[in-house]
Amino acid sequence: MSYTQEIYERVVAKNPHEPEFCQAVKEVLDSIELAVSANEEKYRRVSLLERLVEPERAVSFRVPWYDDQNVVRVNRGYRIQFNSAIGPYKGGLRFHPSVNQSILKFLGFEQIFKNSLTGLPIGGGKGGSDFDPKGKSDREVMLFCQSFMTELFKYVGADRDVPAGDIGVGGREVGYLYGQYKRLTGMYEGVLTGKAIPFGGSLGRTEATGYGLIYMLEQMMQHSGGTLVGKTTLVSGSGNVAIYAVEKAQAKGMNVVAMSDSNGYIYDPKGIKLDVVKDIKEVRRGRIKEYAERVDSAIYTEGKGIWTLPCEIALPCATQNELELEDMKTLLANGCQVVAEGANMPTTREATDYAIEKGIMFMPGKAANAGGVATSALEMSQNSMRLSWTFEEVDQRLQRIMADIYQKTSDAANRYGQPHNFVLGANIAGFEKIASAMTAQGVC
Ligand code: NDP
Repeated sequence: MSYTQEIYERVVAKNPHEPEFCQAVKEVLDSIELAVSANEEKYRRVSLLERLVEPERAVSFRVPWYDDQNVVRVNRGYRIQFNSAIGPYKGGLRFHPSVNQSILKFLGFEQIFKNSLTGLPIGGGKGGSDFDPKGKSDREVMLFCQSFMTELFKYVGADRDVPAGDIGVGGREVGYLYGQYKRLTGMYEGVLTGKAIPFGGSLGRTEATGYGLIYMLEQMMQHSGGTLVGKTTLVSGSGNVAIYAVEKAQAKGMNVVAMSDSNGYIYDPKGIKLDVVKDIKEVRRGRIKEYAERVDSAIYTEGKGIWTLPCEIALPCATQNELELEDMKTLLANGCQVVAEGANMPTTREATDYAIEKGIMFMPGKAANAGGVATSALEMSQNSMRLSWTFEEVDQRLQRIMADIYQKTSDAANRYGQPHNFVLGANIAGFEKIASAMTAQGVC
């Protein structure tokens, strides 16, 4: 049995109730198989893979808070500090009812390789809670965030672990979390990224994941002799990643015709009017169906059928496992040529394999959405230097980072004889740096 297979079986046996984590481990281990077998003896000697799949630390804690009826509610909080071989743990906090240890371990594990790919000194981590900010008042969200940070502050710090936002954690939540950290520690330091501009946030961070996704797409098209201009595009989700992906896509001349949320999707053949989406989602925290009530050319459909619409490019930007095998078959049949993941693991394994086999150009999230964490690392640099760069400076750096990630991914895929397999390329390029740091640092 190969070393990677042996480790995967061990992970499944040890974590039988963590399907998302096992899925993420399998995807990575399968695609680094060739790189591992080329160095098997060296890696086995230091139990490299055994250590790689085990978080350095995983904390889970009680988060009690008062709701507006003065009733005490209790949620569960987590922080998974997965790997610090190349830098302090870095990765978002997710507040969503579906959050559990399996989902955060999958996200933390993926984050290790993504952060490595950025070329910046950041390790992998992830955290969050099963708290649902939807429908809560600002006061309830603040009390929850304060209680969450009252435990979390023991484990984080500018040189130790620097969380950021993710699903359900935007500027408002980061602000409340930061205020409580400062109050508890008396320290004004860059412990969180995604902060607002007046207290240490970086210009360009809000836009970074979505913009970065389109910069990656641009690289893919340039290297394959194509263009983005005029391409009919579907974008799932209507949160932070989706909105700024659409903004940059439209600036590049792409024709985005659909967006969604967890209730349904809108189709607007005249092109999505992003100012309307921003007003619904960013200002009023409403539902995507309101778009069709405001824009005559749009149709709203309840449910998850966004991938049944014809397109040339599909950008899943909502959540994990939202694009399944049948969806990929439909996309291909309808003329889709490119899929780039804005969300983390939005495509199931079967759908990913099918896309690669059928020649759809497929860029995995750990490369395509790395612009967000990369810009978070730029926010950390600015905080450490007590400086702020202009939007243009940050955006230039982001563009260089995305081009560099494309190059590393493509080079690794070529080196291992599978030039069109960006999943393999991204995983191997991310892994090689981690493996060499972990080997050099001894067994720890
Ligand atoms: P947001 O909370 O801002 O938006 C999430 C969007 O996805 C919302 O439109 C939400 O709809 C939708 N959604 C959530 N769950 C589901 C579901 N089960 N089915 C269908 N739609 C769903 O999150 P982000 O935009 O920040 O994150 C989106 C994805 O991108 C996540 O996978 C995240 O991990 C990843 N990511 C985010 C980064 C960032 O910088 N923000 C960086 C890298 C990756 P609704 O409002 O109905 O819940």
